[in-house]
Amino acid sequence: MSTRSPHFTEPAKKHLGQHFLHDRGIIDNIVHAVDPKPGDRLVEIGPGQGAITFPLLDRHKELTVIEFDRDLIFPLTEAARAHGTLEVIHRDVLAVDFTALARNGGDEGGQIRLVGNLPYNLSSPILFHALEHATAIRDMHFMLQKEVVDRMAAGPGSKVYGRLGVMLQAYCHVTPLFDVPPGAFRPPPKVDSAVVRLVPRAPDAIGIDDHALYAAVVRDAFGQRRKTLRNALSNLCDAAAIEAAGVRPDARAEQIEVADFVRLANSLARQRD
Ligand code: SAM
Repeated sequence: MSTRSPHFTEPAKKHLGQHFLHDRGIIDNIVHAVDPKPGDRLVEIGPGQGAITFPLLDRHKELTVIEFDRDLIFPLTEAARAHGTLEVIHRDVLAVDFTALARNGGDEGGQIRLVGNLPYNLSSPILFHALEHATAIRDMHFMLQKEVVDRMAAGPGSKVYGRLGVMLQAYCHVTPLFDVPPGAFRPPPKVDSAVVRLVPRAPDAIGIDDHALYAAVVRDAFGQRRKTLRNALSNLCDAAAIEAAGVRPDARAEQIEVADFVRLANSLARQRD
């Protein structure tokens, strides 16, 4: 069993999104979902007081953690000593090059596995930062606001289907795993939480020809979600170009499948060549 260090005396810092997990059952469920195997290179974002860190180290003797709060670095390292080998990176996670981290051992095709109870104020930037390094990441297990997980996993017809889901699902398999109530954390957040698994698709399975254009199509399509595609995308293309991609110009973004967005962006990219 892992133990908590008595040296964590700092109060939780709101501006760093600190809500420390204390529910043993939830922590076990996260470790079980990650299911570390020999040789895996685990990287935890925001270890905090080590709620997930120590149980992971009990199962898997090597772990890299990325923590921004300098007050947590020393006690974390001290407390981890008894459990295994902990590499601590004291940095803003958004400044960490996951691709370089994955290749640390000189392994060109090396991949890391990301885990984290994320600071909710940074969840979208962290997700998009991870997507930029998707080829270096085997999978991700993140605790996020439940409302964000719902948006990530939503499909056409859902009220919460939108830009986040269409962007993420093009690059990753998104699987919501379980919900977590506010009482599982100290201090409790104001919202419900959920754990989600993201598995990046292989580069040749993504099939997006022009990533910037795909992002622009999705952004504009959902920019005014009540508008038809013909109107919402008027800055990028005309109705004929949408039709040429096999997509109905009179449909609204919320009715369009992710695969159709990919086809539309690829068709526009070819029409521009
Ligand atoms: N993993 C711990 C747990 O489950 O109890 C703490 C989770 S807490 C929700 C988020 C953690 O992310 C905090 O430890 C916080 O200091 C850290 N954090 C916040 N912003 C960060 C950043 N930009 N880069 C790295 N870590 C950050």
